[in-house]
Amino acid sequence: MEETLTIIKPDAVRAGNAGRIIAHLEDAGFVIQAIRRIRLSRAQAEAFYAVHRERPFFEDLVAFMTSGPAVAIALARENAVAHLRDTMGATDSAQAAPGTIRNLYGTNIQNNAIHGSDSPDNARVERAFFFAGCDLVG
Ligand code: ATP
Ligand code: MG
Repeated sequence: MEETLTIIKPDAVRAGNAGRIIAHLEDAGFVIQAIRRIRLSRAQAEAFYAVHRERPFFEDLVAFMTSGPAVAIALARENAVAHLRDTMGATDSAQAAPGTIRNLYGTNIQNNAIHGSDSPDNARVERAFFFAGCDLVG
């Protein structure tokens, strides 16, 4: 099975939708290998989204991701990276297809409820950011 990493973002946790999103992911066939409630520091958020450092929305993104608790989850499934992206929907919640997590629980292009790794290589890096090997349960 392929592995990936998701974060239920602070907007969704604040709205009380973490449990519904976890159920949505399980219904979509993902196995939860590890799960942690997190509160990102500024340095952690900047490191996690370092690829976007030069983008105009970077400061707002860091402020959003540090605005409250989030939930990091290590996931496994066949074709997990691509399937998670499909299950999440488009980055802009207003454009996300009906029934996707961002359509159901996101608000706009920034407050979009959920993060998903965009490649197997990035999934490995992002999983190691939050979880040690001993945390992961098949
Ligand atoms: P994520 O990496 O969180 O799974 P994504 O891969 O769909 O989202 P990215 O392009 O990697 O989208 O952007 C990372 C995050 O930055 C988005 O999820 C969103 O929260 C924020 N973001 C992206 N584009 C914009 C924008 N134009 N304005 C404001 N925020 C944005
Ligand atoms: Mg991304």
